[in-house]
Amino acid sequence: MAAIIDGKAVAKEVQKQIKEEVEGLERRWGWVPGLAVVLVGDDPASHIYVRNKEKACREVGIKSFEHLLPATIPEKELLTLVHQLNKDNDIHGILVQLPLPPHIHAEKVLEAVSPYKDIDGFHPMSQGMLLLGGDGFRPCTPMGIMKLLAAVGCELKGKNAVVVGRSNIVGKPVALMLLEKHATVTICHSRTASLRDEVGRADVLVVAIGKARFVRGDWIKPGAVVIDVGVNRLPSGKLCGDVEFESAKDRAAAITPVPGGVGPMTICMLLYNTLKAAKDALQRRR
Ligand code: NDP
Repeated sequence: MAAIIDGKAVAKEVQKQIKEEVEGLERRWGWVPGLAVVLVGDDPASHIYVRNKEKACREVGIKSFEHLLPATIPEKELLTLVHQLNKDNDIHGILVQLPLPPHIHAEKVLEAVSPYKDIDGFHPMSQGMLLLGGDGFRPCTPMGIMKLLAAVGCELKGKNAVVVGRSNIVGKPVALMLLEKHATVTICHSRTASLRDEVGRADVLVVAIGKARFVRGDWIKPGAVVIDVGVNRLPSGKLCGDVEFESAKDRAAAITPVPGGVGPMTICMLLYNTLKAAKDALQRRR
């Protein structure tokens, strides 16, 4: 029977450390980390995410500045706002909540965010720094996954790590981070010939595809550590992951639940990156 990896507990611990550092910055330097949150349109899920992010900011003492914009906003106006935020000294991190309405080119907006304020780690510069193993901002969900693996003492060196999903925000970056920790990494996607066989070789399995309970418990190698990133809403209204949790937990050594696994870590890493952005800005000023 697998140990259940408690993302909420790990996030709480990391959040406590962030709060202490935020308080220290203000006490010592009068420096308060500031996060600008840009939300376009009225997608209900995005509103919930943004509210949760702002609540988490308040809890650790990060100041958040909300920009709620209508879905009809022209791309040019949104870009103007991003440029203003880039110049604003009270703002250290900029978060543009995705998805954006179809008439707006998301890549254009993400590229407009200053790489110094790119706390989501989506800017090509940040992605490039990750590829090169440099010191840029790293995307929050993959970073949260790595923290969870470290928290449960999962040794990665020499292990077979299998990542299912190759998105720019989860699959690819987490694969690079696992590689950096010396795992032997396989990335699977919708054209992978035999997903079941690939999954069966995983000592560490990360699944981020967005398909409810797609990965069956009996595919999983006994003793594997399983990180389920997926968040899917069932017709009953309940949330579930991409892995069939009930059967997987009988084979895995450790597994994240959905909800309560990766999700809380993503928000926590956003706070971590905002703090890093504020510290970097202070360093540049001194
Ligand atoms: P994307 O839709 O961007 O990517 C999905 C990936 O899964 C693609 O690479 C796709 O392959 C692959 N895929 C789809 N179907 C299959 C299949 N049958 N077999 C193998 N691979 C498949 O998703 P995201 O990476 O943005 O998100 C994935 C999930 O994680 C979602 O449920 C999302 O809600 C969740 N999520 C959760 C977060 C959290 O904080 N908990 C944060 C971010 C995401 P291909 O490239 O070939 O199309």
